[in-house]
Amino acid sequence: MTDKIQKHVERLVDDEKWVKTFLSKLKKRKSGCWEWQGSLDPEGYGRFHVKKHHETGTGRNFFAHRMSYFIHCEGYIQPDELILHQCHNRLCCNPDHFHIGSHDDNMDDLRKSGNIAGTNNPRSKLDEDDVWDILEQYYLTWNVSINDIVEQYDYLDIKRGTISDIVQGRTWPKVYDEFYDHYFEKKGVEE
Ligand SMILES: [Zn+2]
Repeated sequence: MTDKIQKHVERLVDDEKWVKTFLSKLKKRKSGCWEWQGSLDPEGYGRFHVKKHHETGTGRNFFAHRMSYFIHCEGYIQPDELILHQCHNRLCCNPDHFHIGSHDDNMDDLRKSGNIAGTNNPRSKLDEDDVWDILEQYYLTWNVSINDIVEQYDYLDIKRGTISDIVQGRTWPKVYDEFYDHYFEKKGVEE
């Protein structure tokens, strides 16, 4: 089965016209992210169906970020190899923002790069339930932006940076970990 997927991917990546069409659906942002403009799966990852070059002509579903990796890094990676978004933008298809590895690797990176705050900060105006709620809104409700969340917590005088630290796991890492395990472990991988 995996061989067939790999063959399909190789044929697609060799097809310059098809690749051009795929790339035309990526929008380059100032952040450096290349955001997928096509359809999304329920978790908010770019997901699309391809009939072209499929061995039976019925087609196969692909994740946009994984296809982008196949195209730009000129290599197929097995379905059990995870692509993690270091930019935490699920729409992003820029391989420079990818990290191949496990969830644990990802959490280590976050710990090394960011301040661990949250529960240890007695001045925090939010509690763990608030943080969980913020993560649910941001990651599970596709049309909610950080600004929408900031507005909701306006009465607590919560700044944009506080919310963005939370959704990137820089603060409240324990809640972020639990949340990630609860909803996303192994997501973003083709079956
Ligand atoms: Zn990105």
